Amino acid sequence: MKIDLTGKSALVTGSTRGIGRAIAGTLAACGAKVAVVGRDKAKADAVSAELKDSRGFACDVAVPADVLKLVEDVEKEFGAIDILVNNAGITKDNLMLRLKDEDWDTVLDSNLRSAFLAIRAASRGMMKRRWGRIVNISSVVGLMGNKGQTNYAASKAGLIGLTKSVAKELASRNILCNAIAPGFIETDMTAAMAEEARTALMAQIPLARLGTPADIAWTTAFLCSEYASYITGQVLVVDGGLVM
Ligand code: NDP
Repeated sequence: MKIDLTGKSALVTGSTRGIGRAIAGTLAACGAKVAVVGRDKAKADAVSAELKDSRGFACDVAVPADVLKLVEDVEKEFGAIDILVNNAGITKDNLMLRLKDEDWDTVLDSNLRSAFLAIRAASRGMMKRRWGRIVNISSVVGLMGNKGQTNYAASKAGLIGLTKSVAKELASRNILCNAIAPGFIETDMTAAMAEEARTALMAQIPLARLGTPADIAWTTAFLCSEYASYITGQVLVVDGGLVM
């Protein structure tokens, strides 16, 4: 048994590095054409050049017009978007009492509104073709909350509500929408963590390691595959056992 996405076109936001890059690589390895997306076109092109049948696109997902244009451009280039992975995300951490309005807005716009806009735009084509897979990259922080991350946790919890509502609205058109809630994954986002915090965290993870981008990428590929055709509206927690 092998995950085969031959003939499918995928759009993965935030795929120039980290988890998104691994997702793009894995979907391409499974046979999909992949649109690699970041704010910098040169970086997106460099990543897509390493993958078969892929193209790089520039898009700032915090800017609504950019997201709509991205969906339009990818549909033009590939003829369709069968798989949409809303992965782009940022943090702007501070304790709630010190959090600036603009840092609330930037995180919500980048992490949550972007996903809504991309889903609304890309689902039209999926509905016509009666096939679609949407995967939203949430976080365990959206399930548990986290000190210093009210904005980020709210955006990730919001993605879960969005996922379940979209799953209900689009199920009749054979469009599945699921979320993945990664635990702590080795990427630029977690690289700045102090050694002390890292050691304390490790003690709480039953599998005693941080996750890798590949751990999330294979879960995504599974949710996009025919093996997951009866799964929708779910949050798959991929965290080494942290949350259970
Ligand atoms: P990284 O910071 O390593 O990478 C972020 C990616 O998103 C980059 O490709 C970046 O591209 C892109 N990006 C950021 N902002 C924008 C924007 N405004 N428009 C377009 N692209 C953007 O993050 P991770 O790989 O660690 O995280 C990926 C996702 O997984 C995020 O949603 C994150 O919240 C989530 N997650 C991560 C966890 C972790 O432990 N790492 C845990 C749980 C969830 P570029 O800079 O080239 O524009």
